[in-house]
Amino acid sequence: MRAFDYLRAGDTAEAVREGSHDDTRFIAGGTNLLDLMKLEVMAPGKLVDITRLDLGGIEETEAGGLRIGALVTNSDLAADARVRKGWPVLSRALLAGASGQLRNKATTGGNLLQRTRCYYFYDRGEPCNKREPGTGCAAKDGMNRILAILGTSEHCIATHPSDMAVAMRCLGAKVEIEGTRGRREVALDAFYRSPGDTPHIETVLEAGELITAVILPAPAGGRQIYRKVRDRSSYAFALVSVAAVVSVEDGRITQAQLAFGGLGPMPWRDAEVEKALVGEVPSKALFDRAADILLAEAKGHGGNDFKIPLTRRTLAAVLTQATETDQ
Ligand code: SF4
Repeated sequence: MRAFDYLRAGDTAEAVREGSHDDTRFIAGGTNLLDLMKLEVMAPGKLVDITRLDLGGIEETEAGGLRIGALVTNSDLAADARVRKGWPVLSRALLAGASGQLRNKATTGGNLLQRTRCYYFYDRGEPCNKREPGTGCAAKDGMNRILAILGTSEHCIATHPSDMAVAMRCLGAKVEIEGTRGRREVALDAFYRSPGDTPHIETVLEAGELITAVILPAPAGGRQIYRKVRDRSSYAFALVSVAAVVSVEDGRITQAQLAFGGLGPMPWRDAEVEKALVGEVPSKALFDRAADILLAEAKGHGGNDFKIPLTRRTLAAVLTQATETDQ
């Protein structure tokens, strides 16, 4: 690990001011950043420790939603009684992620910003446009079993690894951001960038901008499901995951919010899929049509071709469960 400077910020203004230098990174739980620093995949010249900032609470908003402070740990968020009751898909997604020890340290803000688990990103002996722009992408013709089939570019086919963010995107969350020019809110739908020819730039955050909270809208109701398919039953990233909020009234689907993990460079949501479901009578043919829309542009890279039929089956299973009448 390379030497770095360290500063413990006393308040948000100081953190943002100190964090606005290119070579500086914020650190909270450090569950991903410290690994990356040990491997010298990331080598910031300075760390600004934000763990003493007042960003650790969960408050109810006037709109009936929740404002989740960026430093709320994944364990505390999953266990919060309000989350379990009103936004159970989020609690389930959090508990499907990582391990108990990691969830005790990992924070809400950090979870959104964790980096891909593409093997080549962590291997400094291999070309990787995300780690070192312009060097190439070893994964395209290499081990890409865990990588993306949607939203990729010729420069990068990495997936975003978060479970939490998939549920948050399904729920229509917003990210609250503080920067040197003040505070702004960005819908999670617009927070992540497509890789294009700059896969090293992953979000719309500007230098020094700090995630201060995530805001959930009022409870979406419906039947809420998070299903994660992975290579082993715990402590593994999603090959495919589906977060779903679905309602059925008088035999027809009246609400369908769906987001997917393991498929793209960001938690994936497709409005056309949801539109195709609403107003329809649940059936296998309908679920097949939804999968056709979702996967119309899907592209495998050899090792991850299996994700296309796996996604189809997982979506059908989730929609079947969500629309069953005898629960
Ligand atoms: Fe790097 Fe992205 Fe290619 Fe993986 S997929 S090697 S992260 S450029």
